[in-house]
Amino acid sequence: MVIGDTYDLLLKGGRVIDPRNSLDGLRDVAIQGGRIAAVEPWIDATAAKQVRPVGGKIVCPGLIDFHTHVYHKATSCSVDPAYLSRRSVVSTLVDAGSAGAANFAGLRDYVMKPAPLRILAFLNISFPGIFAFDRSVMFGEARIPELLVPELCAEVIAANRDRLVGVKVRMGEATSGEVGMKALDRAIEAAELADVPLMTHIGSPPPTYGEILARLRPGDILTHCFRPAPNAPVAEGGGVLDALITARERGVLFDIGHGAGAFHFRSAEQAISNGFPPDIISSDAHTLSIDGPAYDLLHTMSKLANCGIPLPEVIGMATDAPARAMRRADLGHLAVGAVADISVIAEVERDYSFRDVRGEVRRGSMLLEPDILIVGGVTVEPEARPFEMTGKES
Ligand SMILES: [Zn+2]
Repeated sequence: MVIGDTYDLLLKGGRVIDPRNSLDGLRDVAIQGGRIAAVEPWIDATAAKQVRPVGGKIVCPGLIDFHTHVYHKATSCSVDPAYLSRRSVVSTLVDAGSAGAANFAGLRDYVMKPAPLRILAFLNISFPGIFAFDRSVMFGEARIPELLVPELCAEVIAANRDRLVGVKVRMGEATSGEVGMKALDRAIEAAELADVPLMTHIGSPPPTYGEILARLRPGDILTHCFRPAPNAPVAEGGGVLDALITARERGVLFDIGHGAGAFHFRSAEQAISNGFPPDIISSDAHTLSIDGPAYDLLHTMSKLANCGIPLPEVIGMATDAPARAMRRADLGHLAVGAVADISVIAEVERDYSFRDVRGEVRRGSMLLEPDILIVGGVTVEPEARPFEMTGKES
């Protein structure tokens, strides 16, 4: 064997946090042929064609942003996936229902295929997907019952299982309107036909938090879980609603989906202090949230870490948990043989004022910053973060 050719790339001296494999420690990580080749306390640097020193940094499985909108230039809610991915060192973006059965082929061929990262999606139960989402035009795609056709939704999922991981429905006064619970019924029907999980958005009532959760099945996902009132997860000045506790016991998963309207510090703080952390952290990055208050996954992770969730758990909520929730257990971990999706991030001490969707502010002391993104063994250069995300003194 020629020395120096055993590995394509060696990440040397980082703190590896891989929750799936219960690993948190100093390790070298070697990549060969697009796969994880070795994770060891010490690997000989001369065995690698390229060595990147990552001392002081955190090396974790490629981050998965489980709720985004990236049907770029085709839907008004969507942002550029390559930019979002590079800015937050995310290797897998999951689009949450921007496309429906009518237009998924465009998302697949014009966005997913050319992207320098993995893009998967939940397919909207509504035939056209999210078709009217803007500052001045908002019309919920689940408000027209004729558009909610379970058979069509399930058919497109069945034909695209490599990219489609579930069904999406947006429930709430503005998004499902008078159709109400019938929209959720149609979405569940599609999910059952296609045998995939359902991701349900919760907005202002009707329906209520409890009414929605009562219908969700084990493995289904409730997104926007820590939204503000009305339909907050916690009682006024009290604990977590019983409906959440029983739904979690049944196997329903709770996703942050920060966005522009769905993350409130008071909801998060009360839920977390009452022993109810989220299962999954996601940004819900879209045109109205990418410039704040959500920004992106890494920023949302920083926010949750500053709410008191230990960093290894925060990383698990953005790697292992979303991978398993979308039945893609091949992703979200760093076992030898796994695809080499890796995010290298820095944990920096920084006095930073985090803002929620109601404009409430919490001072934090730590920010996660992007360093290296590797997708399938290929290094993708990160994008600079806008100045207001860095917390640096001007
Ligand atoms: Zn969304």
